[in-house]
Amino acid sequence: MTPVALNAARRTADVTALADGAPLDVLVIGGGITGAGVALDAASRGLSVALVEKHDLAFGTSRWSSKLVHGGLRYLATGNVGIARRSAVERGILMTRNAPHLVRAMPQLVPLLPSMGHAERALVRAGFLAGDVLRKTAGTPSSVLPRSRRISAQRVIEMAATVRRDGLDGGLLAFDGQLIDDARLVIAVARTAAQRGARILTYVAASEATGTSARLTDQRSGESFDVSARAVINATGVWAGEIDPALKLRPSRGTHLVFDAETFGNPTAALTIPIPGEINRFIFAMPEQLGRVYLGLTDEDAPGAIPDVPQPSPDEIGFLLQTVNTALEITLDDSDVIGAYAGLRPLIDTGEGRTADVSRDHAIVDSDSGVISVIGGKLTEYRRMAQDVLDHAVAQRGLTAGACRTHDLPLVGALTNPGSDVALTTDLPESLIARYGAEAGNVVATARCERPTDPVVDGIDVTRAEFEYAITHEGALGVGDILDRRTRIGLVAADRERVVGVAEEFLTRFA
Ligand SMILES: Cc1cc2nc3c(=O)[nH]c(=O)nc-3n(C[C@H](O)[C@H](O)[C@H](O)COP(=O)(O)OP(=O)(O)OC[C@H]3O[C@@H](n4cnc5c(N)ncnc54)[C@H](O)[C@@H]3O)c2cc1C
Repeated sequence: MTPVALNAARRTADVTALADGAPLDVLVIGGGITGAGVALDAASRGLSVALVEKHDLAFGTSRWSSKLVHGGLRYLATGNVGIARRSAVERGILMTRNAPHLVRAMPQLVPLLPSMGHAERALVRAGFLAGDVLRKTAGTPSSVLPRSRRISAQRVIEMAATVRRDGLDGGLLAFDGQLIDDARLVIAVARTAAQRGARILTYVAASEATGTSARLTDQRSGESFDVSARAVINATGVWAGEIDPALKLRPSRGTHLVFDAETFGNPTAALTIPIPGEINRFIFAMPEQLGRVYLGLTDEDAPGAIPDVPQPSPDEIGFLLQTVNTALEITLDDSDVIGAYAGLRPLIDTGEGRTADVSRDHAIVDSDSGVISVIGGKLTEYRRMAQDVLDHAVAQRGLTAGACRTHDLPLVGALTNPGSDVALTTDLPESLIARYGAEAGNVVATARCERPTDPVVDGIDVTRAEFEYAITHEGALGVGDILDRRTRIGLVAADRERVVGVAEEFLTRFA
């Protein structure tokens, strides 16, 4: 199949068609993981669908996550068996069918240090064993996610060299799903939807939404026009209340810090450290692409106006450093932090209590205006959320549509036959395959720039071909789209500065 190309020319054609054209079956508002998932579900059922996103794909919460495809262990511990099971099932679908190229098995390592008492160790061990059962009952084989186990102190140090050694009594190891990047998942889902006919319109904002219409404003030209649809679905995450003021959300901020992986001794496992004084809450130092480690995360009430780009607070940064230092041989401080990011969880307001205890379940809400909103949930469950909201819309609006098909639908780039796939048998950089899967060869083959497999600048593991592909195939329209969402170079300001000029040059040549 020809790789689907989202770019400025396609966007212009789609905006024109939408402004002039026939009513849609479904209009999706919001281009995060939820909206992209809804657009894919609708398009793959044969419905006519357009998705509008005020900024860029993955501009909102979806790019600020921990990039984990959770097995749901945390929900099991809090008694939410239903969410835990659903999460484990969705993780298995993503890792084996939808996006095996974007999700890998991440070893999660709890070092057994003297600060961890017998009861706490037993609790973690029991949790990991429950996670194994959850994986098994969800039908995910141990060849995809290995069983949990206890490992020696020597092995702990091999996997995470900076762990405190004094009194280290081995470690507990379990496996969960880790995305190469959350924004890349959103782009892959949106492009797969486009491949099935969805119109994906970035930099188009929706307002005045009703059950059958919305006003759209092209953020680039300033022009507005109305569209009609048989169902209008609000997937705007923490901004959902702007489309339906009756919705009650309780945003909670989560912050991560970014480090050079060398600072942590180039770990191969996610160091998982209990938060002192808390039961069943941990922070994680996770090995990531581009030679980085992300350390997260916090959970803070974030009332008031919703910022476009949330900012970490000094207290959160202090908390993360202080907690990680309890388990390290070294002492990290502010000067080791090379970047930081914060996101707002779109939690449903259930009243009082800490945000950490608020349910991560999703909900489908019919507003008085007729708009159907999908709120709450987790990135891991986007496919299931989309299925639920489309089932609801189809039944409620009497749409003629097939059954949900996303369960077995590979996203663009999915390696359906990894053993023999052409992308894996060539000399392409490993990082390119990790980000594009079966499309990696195409990223280079379609490039018109000089030296396509050279890095964009020395020391940054992103090729020149990727900048071009972002513009020609992945819908990047500006510098931020390339640096902050198609790639994540922008998470480190110093790296961002070094490549801004290259991104600008590529936009001039290829947009
Ligand atoms: C710190 C943190 C860590 C997390 N970690 C994980 C994790 O590891 N695993 C996991 O499964 N989940 C995780 N989550 C949860 C997950 O990230 C979110 O549930 C998910 O990304 C929400 O996606 P969304 O599409 O609903 O919202 P968003 O990604 O916020 O998308 C909404 C979009 O709507 C657009 N929009 C708003 N108003 C309009 C308008 N009027 N017109 C057009 N567009 C509009 C916005 O620009 C935005 O792009 C985490 C969340 C946080 C905050």
